[in-house]
Amino acid sequence: MHEYRDIVVITGIPGVGKTSVVEQAVKKLKNYKIVNFGDVMFDIAKGEGLVKHRDDMRKLSPETQKKIQRHAAKKIAGMAADSNIIVDTHISIKTPKGYLPGLPLWVLEELEPTKIIIIDASPEEIYARRKRDDTRKRDEEKLESIRFHQIYNVHLAGAYSMITGATVSIVYNREGRMIEAVKELIEILSN
Ligand code: ATP
Ligand code: AMP
Ligand code: MG
Repeated sequence: MHEYRDIVVITGIPGVGKTSVVEQAVKKLKNYKIVNFGDVMFDIAKGEGLVKHRDDMRKLSPETQKKIQRHAAKKIAGMAADSNIIVDTHISIKTPKGYLPGLPLWVLEELEPTKIIIIDASPEEIYARRKRDDTRKRDEEKLESIRFHQIYNVHLAGAYSMITGATVSIVYNREGRMIEAVKELIEILSN
């Protein structure tokens, strides 16, 4: 039995708005701290001289990504000793070698999440957000591929839920209506 408190996992495909929504929500949720899984992985990968940009990590070999992922999961579980944590991460990562699970068994065993929340929007909205946001190097992807990633993630969320007993919720982050998504997220996290 771990000593940490509640760990909630926030997911959604790249560019859907996870980080934006979660950062707004924690302003109102004083009892949660955000940990961005990608930040923790990037610190490790940069420290080992493997990448210079966070968006290059998914191009590393699956074995290397899983090694960094495992290391990051252990670090994050350690951070949860004295605080409730919201982990901003991905259900799966689209890599050149195929979809890599973001929460394989060894990550789930470290984190033991109680809630898995999927932030979602339409493929068209996601496509446009990726195009507009030049702070990141997100891959240009066709709408049908975005759609497949969304569907695949829902299936994987079910598998993760079966393993952990975590509940799964979906929050729509509609165009120009982030405030509604933030409210919904706060509502889920307040229960
Ligand atoms: P990643 O997985 O790549 O980190 P993310 O899901 O964290 O992506 P954000 O970086 O939060 O996505 O948002 C991507 C872009 O979409 C940003 O430019 C953000 O301002 C914009 N955005 C987020 N939510 C909305 C919304 N409801 N309406 C319009 N634009 C939005
Ligand atoms: P983000 O800013 O959320 O896109 O995170 C940056 C990068 O970190 C992602 O594009 C992935 O390459 C990696 N990443 C984040 N979460 C995970 C995870 N759970 N497993 C593997 N890689 C991850
Ligand atoms: Mg983000």
